[in-house]
Amino acid sequence: MQITFKDKVLSLYRRTIRKHKWLKMPMLVLSVILLAIDRLIRNLKAGLHKYIVVIASMTFAFVSCSFSSVIWGDGQYDFTYDVTSYYYETEASAAALAVEADIDTTMIEDDEEPDEIELIDPETLDDISELDTVSGADIVGIIEQADTEDDQAAVEEKNGDPQFSRDDWQLVLVNKNHPIAEDYNFTLGTIKGAMQCDERIIPDLYSMLEAALNDGVNLVICSPYRDDSRQQMLFDRKVNKYTAQGMSYMEAYKVAAQTVTIPGSSEHQIGLAIDMISDNYSSLNAGFGDTAAGKWLAEHAHEYGFIIRYPEGKEDITGIEYEPWHLRYVGKNAASVLHDESITLEEFWEKYL
Ligand SMILES: [Zn+2]
Repeated sequence: MQITFKDKVLSLYRRTIRKHKWLKMPMLVLSVILLAIDRLIRNLKAGLHKYIVVIASMTFAFVSCSFSSVIWGDGQYDFTYDVTSYYYETEASAAALAVEADIDTTMIEDDEEPDEIELIDPETLDDISELDTVSGADIVGIIEQADTEDDQAAVEEKNGDPQFSRDDWQLVLVNKNHPIAEDYNFTLGTIKGAMQCDERIIPDLYSMLEAALNDGVNLVICSPYRDDSRQQMLFDRKVNKYTAQGMSYMEAYKVAAQTVTIPGSSEHQIGLAIDMISDNYSSLNAGFGDTAAGKWLAEHAHEYGFIIRYPEGKEDITGIEYEPWHLRYVGKNAASVLHDESITLEEFWEKYL
């Protein structure tokens, strides 16, 4: 069997694209040119001069089109460039930020427990030493600008004066008098690593961390979603501590409830609460409110749908001590109202729902 020039060219083409898929188009063009030249030579030999002009023109047109649009075309070439430069940029900045924002979680330890039970011994202090934290800088490094279906924004556009609904998941009221409904349903999304919260609040959470970072504040998330057993464990531990100090169970329960939310009524259990510290203040106590991060949150969190859920001076309404680090997501519209009127979620329900 005689191997023709055409067979050789096709064999070369197949072998090359099997190894290098991206060479498919250039190889196709090259093969066509080679076959055309071969045909040309054979036709010349056969004296078929009348086809020469046609084949040569077609080959030339085809080759020039293919080269300009596929090989050197704007789309493909620029795309490669962009992806590469983006990769290096994000790698470099994420690395730089990670170094800047590196949190030594081993430095965050249980503070000395105060003797006076009135002193705030926050619910989540114990958590910090056990769980990883994630900072604004970490988050910015992994941000994927999710396509946010911003329901709230849609409401805002429709009517300037937003209407609120009791059925809105963002406004769900959870406290000692309003435990979490048994049929309450939501989907957990991952913030980073093992840290989770209601997936619907993640885009706004990321935006907030990024905005704070742009203002020079590196916020650190330290305790988002907690499952029921974890909340129960934290509460029991606190009750045990007080009974060990000589209190009756009822007394211990009452006091514990002021600092650790009673299991079944914590916003952390529905993934809408986030505790925040910053890279240079890692204690969960009232002093956080006086730090740059605490002030930034008090001033700007509502722009991203979050509120300081247990403000100072409202302890008798919320039933919880002042917690400048505990943020609750309520959506941008409600957050703005709560912020502007300096009211709690309890008061908001009274007034608007
Ligand atoms: Zn909290």
